[in-house]
Amino acid sequence: MNGIIQVTRSSMPDYEEYIDEIKDIWDTHWMTNMGSKHRELRDKLKVYLDAENLDLLTNGHMALELTLQAMKLSGEVITTPFTFASTTHAIVRNGLTPVFCDINSDDYTINTKKIESLITEKTCAIVPVHVYGNICDVEAIQKIADKYSLKVVYDAAHTFGVAYKGRGIGLFGDASCFSFHATKVFNTIEGGAVCFKDKALGEEIYNLKNFGIQGSEKVVGVGANAKMNEFCAAMGICNLRHIDREIDKRKRVVERYTERLNGIGGIKLSPQQEGVKPNYAYFPVVFDKKVFGKSRDDVAQQLETEGIFARKYFYPLTTDFDCYRDKFNSEDTPVALNISKNVLTLPLYADLPLETVDKICGIILS
Ligand SMILES: *Cc1c(COP(=O)(O)O)cnc(C)c1O
Repeated sequence: MNGIIQVTRSSMPDYEEYIDEIKDIWDTHWMTNMGSKHRELRDKLKVYLDAENLDLLTNGHMALELTLQAMKLSGEVITTPFTFASTTHAIVRNGLTPVFCDINSDDYTINTKKIESLITEKTCAIVPVHVYGNICDVEAIQKIADKYSLKVVYDAAHTFGVAYKGRGIGLFGDASCFSFHATKVFNTIEGGAVCFKDKALGEEIYNLKNFGIQGSEKVVGVGANAKMNEFCAAMGICNLRHIDREIDKRKRVVERYTERLNGIGGIKLSPQQEGVKPNYAYFPVVFDKKVFGKSRDDVAQQLETEGIFARKYFYPLTTDFDCYRDKFNSEDTPVALNISKNVLTLPLYADLPLETVDKICGIILS
C-alpha cells in the first residue's frame, strides 16, 4: 500500500478513544438492540444535523428502502440515474417503478424543470439525490410535490452536515436518508439514519427496522432487521467529536484542488451553491476531451500508473447496470449520460496531504 493514494480514506478516532468508548459494553454486555450508545448517538446527531426527528439504521440503503416501504407507496417514482446503485435498488426492491429524470449539468442534481412532464396518474413520489454534497433545488421540488400530492424522500447519503439557508438539509421533504458508511464524510463503520417530518412515519420505520416488535409479546408488523449495533454507534460517537475538524481539513484539500484546477480549459469543477453550508464530501471533475485534449479515461489511466486511484463515480448510470439495461434507456437522460462518461472524482479525505493534491494536479495538467 506504500505510496498508493486511494480515492478516500476512512476517518477513525484514536485507537484509545474508541477502546475507551466501548469499555462499558463489557460491563453491560448490551451489544445491540437500541442500547445506550444507540440512544446517545441518535440524540447527538439530531442536534448536529439540526433534525426534527431522526432514527438510526444499519446503513444508508436500509434507511432508504425501509422509508419507502413505510410510506406504503405503489406506482411510479421519479428519480435520477446519476447515483449509487442503492437509490434505484431501493425503489425497485419496493415493487415501485423508477421513472428517470435528467440532471443539471452544473450541480448534477435532478433537473426540476423536467419533473412535471414525467408525472402521470401513477406517480406517487420523488426520490431526488443530493449529489456529491450539492443539494437539489429543494424549494422547486416541494412546490411540485405539493401541487401533485407526492411524497419526497431525499437520498442524502452525501450531505452529512450540509445546511441550506441555515437549516439542516434533513428538514426538507418528507424524509432524508443519510449514509454513515466507512467511505462517507461521517462514519459509524456501516450505518445510516433517516430524518423525517411525520412521527407516525418514524414509528413505521422503527417497526420495519426491528421485526415489527413492540413488546416482549407484541409484534405489530412484518418487519425486517436493520438496527444499528452498539459498536457502530460507539464509533459514531467518537467520530462526531472530531467531525468539524475533519470537514475543515477537507475544505483545505478542496480549496487547494480548486486553486490548481479552476479556469483550466476543458476542466469543469462543481460550483459553490448559494445559501449552502458545504461538507466538502467529493471533488468531481468533468473533462471535455475536445478542449482539454485528454479524456476522463486517459486521465484516470495516467493517475493509476502513478499509484493514484481516482474514481469514475457515478459510472455507469444505474440505468446501464446489467440488471436494468433492458428495462430503461440511458439515452432518455442525455445530460446524466454525458456527465457519467466524463466525470472523475479525485482523491479527497481529511488527511490527504496538500503536497499530494499538488502532485495529482501536476499529473492531470501535464
Ligand atoms: C453510500 C450511498 C448510499 C448507500 O449507503 P450505505 O450506507 O452504503 O448503504 C446511497 N446513496 C448514495 C448516493 C450513496 O453514496
